[in-house]
Amino acid sequence: MAKINKTRVPMREQPAEERIKNFDSVPLGYTDEEAMAEAQRCIQCKDPSCETECPVNMKIRAMIEKVAEGNFEEAFLIAKEDNPIPAISGRVCPQEDQCEGVCTMGKKADAINIGKLGAFLGDWAMQNGVTEELHIEERNEKVAVIGSGPAGISCAVDLRKLGYRVTLFEALHIAGGVLQYGIPAFRLPKDIVDYELSYLQKIGVDLRLNNIVGQNIKFDELRWEFDAIFIGTGAGAPRFLGIEGEKLMGVYSANEFLIRVNLMKAYKFPEYDTPIVCGDSVGVIGAGNVAMDAARCAVRLGAREVYILYRRTKQESPARDEELEHALEEGVIFEELVNPTRVLGSEDGWVTGIEMVRMELGELDDSGRPRPVKIEGGEFTMELDTVVNALGTLPNRLFLDRTPELETTPRGAIKTDEKLMTNVKGVFAGGDAMSGGATVIQALGEGKRAAASIHGYLSGI
Ligand SMILES: Cc1cc2nc3c(=O)[nH]c(=O)nc-3n(C[C@H](O)[C@H](O)[C@H](O)COP(=O)(O)OP(=O)(O)OC[C@H]3O[C@@H](n4cnc5c(N)ncnc54)[C@H](O)[C@@H]3O)c2cc1C
Repeated sequence: MAKINKTRVPMREQPAEERIKNFDSVPLGYTDEEAMAEAQRCIQCKDPSCETECPVNMKIRAMIEKVAEGNFEEAFLIAKEDNPIPAISGRVCPQEDQCEGVCTMGKKADAINIGKLGAFLGDWAMQNGVTEELHIEERNEKVAVIGSGPAGISCAVDLRKLGYRVTLFEALHIAGGVLQYGIPAFRLPKDIVDYELSYLQKIGVDLRLNNIVGQNIKFDELRWEFDAIFIGTGAGAPRFLGIEGEKLMGVYSANEFLIRVNLMKAYKFPEYDTPIVCGDSVGVIGAGNVAMDAARCAVRLGAREVYILYRRTKQESPARDEELEHALEEGVIFEELVNPTRVLGSEDGWVTGIEMVRMELGELDDSGRPRPVKIEGGEFTMELDTVVNALGTLPNRLFLDRTPELETTPRGAIKTDEKLMTNVKGVFAGGDAMSGGATVIQALGEGKRAAASIHGYLSGI
């Protein structure tokens, strides 16, 4: 029996000193030979736990087997059966906590690089113009999907494959939700997002951009016109600490900062006329993926010092391992165990710094992480030109305020039953609008579950 390579086939990347000058993809992708060599490390477990751990239950083992044989077309079609956007999820999923986290190889050697193989297949299909042949049996029932992020995408695709007439309403001028406006191009190139989303129209989803449900179309109108509705409006409303100085000029929510940079292309100013204030020293409050994205954008916008300001330590950071590593390689400074108490400003209203207090770790809290505890006398200040708040988000209020009939949790997340149906009959919800904020693959999984429930509801199963 051939000896199995214990170490991963490394993925080539732009070196840190180069990539901080551009917004191009950091990973450079596998070649065909590299992908095959990585897939050949898979031992093809009898009970592949990678599949049960995946929120959309991709048939990972069969997919990898085909890659190992060099049969990329079949591997791609296997991936696409359960996941409408493999090139995207392969790049952004927290694989270390899901499929790769339970990979048998990972117990004694490097786990198989499942995410990068998924991304390879998505890219390969795009470059070779390969797509699924679908034979859709048309039905008459109409379903409205609100929001074109991962939850709305997977719900729309699965319902369309079942033959429903699906209309997807999106508030913005572009589809994709956070995939377009939040995650920067150096992690998720936008030509890949555009290509993956073009599939929606290819299979006959009626995509209506620039349509804000609750504003230019009433929710009640949709209830009259459609037989069922799925709400996937996400959680795009920012959260602030509620400390003094947060209204100063130069303080951003991460969403505003990232929307300006990514969607409105502020990094190409003046070619694009979106201004952004990003001074020499930038403090980003929080340590999740959103915080890393904001910090890495600030580096690329030319800031000399970019700090992650976090009340716990690197070990507790909720960011994906790869993102944290890349941020550190790019020179982002991780200021651990600090808690901001006041943003400091000049007389003319601009940020000049931040006041913080040093923390230490105490007992475990409800999240299972050590609770940060304030150190008496640990107050200090840091000079900053820009402050970005990346403390997590809340469900969008605009839609919820205009649909008072929908029951929500105290934090504004839409309540659903085990079939993802809300308290309003025939209206389902999923993704961040229901969870309050999770991951791309979680949202994809919920969109799929909701599609199955809508099918059951409409066909009386
Ligand atoms: C900067 C950033 C980085 C992230 N990085 C990662 C990562 O690396 N890995 C990961 O797994 N997850 C990551 N996440 C989280 C992940 O992106 C979300 O969990 C996921 O996008 C949720 O999908 P969704 O479909 O529920 O909502 P969204 O992606 O938010 O999409 C909701 C869509 O609904 C539209 N909408 C809202 N209201 C209306 C309305 N009234 N009418 C019509 N349309 C409406 C919005 O415009 C939007 O397009 C990140 C999030 C952010 C913000």
